[in-house]
Amino acid sequence: MGATTFPRRWSRAAAVGMILLLGGTGEARALAEELVRDGIEVESSLAGRVARPRLPVGPVRIGGFGGIAGLRAYLRDREVTAVVDATHPFAAGISRNAVAACTAEGVPLLRLERPGWADAPGADGWHWADDLDAAARTAAALGERPFLTVGRQGLGHFVEPLAEHAAAVRVVDPPDVEIPDAWTLLLSRGPYTADGERALMAEHRVDVVVTKDSGGSLTWPKLEVAGELGLPVVIVRRHPATDAVETVSDPAAATAWLHAQPWER
Ligand code: NAP
Repeated sequence: MGATTFPRRWSRAAAVGMILLLGGTGEARALAEELVRDGIEVESSLAGRVARPRLPVGPVRIGGFGGIAGLRAYLRDREVTAVVDATHPFAAGISRNAVAACTAEGVPLLRLERPGWADAPGADGWHWADDLDAAARTAAALGERPFLTVGRQGLGHFVEPLAEHAAAVRVVDPPDVEIPDAWTLLLSRGPYTADGERALMAEHRVDVVVTKDSGGSLTWPKLEVAGELGLPVVIVRRHPATDAVETVSDPAAATAWLHAQPWER
């Protein structure tokens, strides 16, 4: 008797099992779309930091797991066969927890992380800071009118060093910290264009751009415009990646990794 043939989607779904996709990035949404299209069972997980998140295709859970123990319990309860950590390059806590929980439960883990901007045009002339505090001190010394795009959660580090600076501060949601009177809060979400960034920097007479090495194209235009205008850039470097975790830089490579796994657990 010949082998039973299933429609391609079903056979893949049965072979791959349940994938937990730690998200909160465009790459994670792109991967979720690819996996759902392939008929693979995937649940995306968001931290719940943003009031109105861009939701990925397919099932989504929102909120923390409750540390390593909570994530381990989730992996067991949902019989997760693999985890893809596609969280933001600066979301170090959840990535550490994913390594610990997957190691303890024997679940394969892949890191999907977009490349940073270290090799981008002009990057060798930027002021690279080891952390947000160092970035705040450098920015305070370099300009009077900084443009801050460091994320809502990191703003607290800038309040004191830049209290007297006329900062233009761009965030998706209003910050939890009280911001200085001298600051102008700009609520918006990318992607951004070079024309838009040029207009914004002219309007606020920006004299230094402060950001994190998030990488990708969606928030790159501010750095392109800073280069054009000859403005100093202060940028927080990424923490070194965990060597122990296999890492890919695009969703297609993550899909290929998933299909290459031996799925028996
Ligand atoms: P974090 O410091 O690494 O994580 C802190 C805690 O938040 C984690 O221990 C976990 O709570 C929970 N958490 C984080 N990501 C989660 C996820 N995808 N699903 C479920 N729980 C999650 O993270 P963060 O820097 O606050 O970032 C939070 C989320 O925003 C991430 O998913 C990230 O992809 C996205 N994001 C972050 C940045 C950034 O600059 N940091 C920028 C854009 C988007 P438990 O310990 O309770 O499990």
